[in-house]
Amino acid sequence: MIGRIALFLCGWSIALPVSAAWFEDQAAIMGTRIHVALWADDAEQARQAIGAVFDEMRRIDALMSPFRKDSELSRVNERAAREAVPVSAELFDLVRTAQAVSRLTQGAFDITFASAGFRYDYRRHRRPDESTLETLKGVSWRMVRLDPQTRSIRFTDPRVRIDLGGIAKGHAVERAVRLLRSRGIRHAEVTAGGDTRLLGDRRGRPWVVGIRDPRTEGRAVVEIPLVGEAISTSGDYERYFLENGVRYHHILVPATGKPAQGVRSASVIGPDATRTDALSTALFVLGVRRGMDLVNGLPGYEAIMIDSDGRLYASQGLSSAP
Ligand code: ADP
Ligand code: MG
Repeated sequence: MIGRIALFLCGWSIALPVSAAWFEDQAAIMGTRIHVALWADDAEQARQAIGAVFDEMRRIDALMSPFRKDSELSRVNERAAREAVPVSAELFDLVRTAQAVSRLTQGAFDITFASAGFRYDYRRHRRPDESTLETLKGVSWRMVRLDPQTRSIRFTDPRVRIDLGGIAKGHAVERAVRLLRSRGIRHAEVTAGGDTRLLGDRRGRPWVVGIRDPRTEGRAVVEIPLVGEAISTSGDYERYFLENGVRYHHILVPATGKPAQGVRSASVIGPDATRTDALSTALFVLGVRRGMDLVNGLPGYEAIMIDSDGRLYASQGLSSAP
């Protein structure tokens, strides 16, 4: 009898996924650092799942990169002022989401920021002069027309250019997590630059995501426990150059074409990374007061902002937490 039990136990332990463990890897894609951590049954499942995430990011980059002449986005920018350009369902839907966020944020988030944005070169410390910016006055998301019937995009003004840099990484981590879930993964963290999407928890514990000190790399100002959510941070430290003490960074006020002032970083937490990404950019532009007002009126979303004096602000749902 004892022998049989021992045998049974032994057989059972062999059937257990003994090599289940945490796995992680990173890659440079979409002009940023992609990091994936997940719990998998074995190293082979982990390798394939992480590889699928990286492939997905490369696919999205090929579709939406403004730096690739052959991307679908570049094709739209080249032709849409002359004719309606039919696009993939994925690009169409993402532009439609971007337009909805523009409406919600009264134009603080606006993919036509690129009309001025493409004239900045942060590596070469170049920026458009006042007279150039003057010629772009009035350009806005309302000049981007979507036709669901023909699934096409058209610009109503020749000055318009679009760029999905403020929303594409959120879209990418959202897609990545869906992909992992379909492969049977139940615990994962996928990060693309400032955008993190979590799948499940950390096996009985929450994930802990740090918001970095905008002026000291590697130092976190707060750490937030999260389960199954998304968190996006927009900061003035990602891409910038200094000129006469002025920090020319990559988040622009669409109405002026100039870098937004008053905020060092804006983080948004919510159920969907595509929206947290766009909203974090919007909050950065709106500033602390208007940004917090917006998030406090959005069920399911919270925010943390750091102003230009380094002061920290939290939305109502976070500050009233027990
Ligand atoms: P990060 O790229 O650091 O994750 P964001 O999500 O805020 O930060 O994205 C910033 C990018 O968003 C910029 O590099 C640019 O491509 C784009 N962007 C800048 N200003 C705006 C704006 N007002 N509305 C929409 N997109 C913007
Ligand atoms: Mg963003």
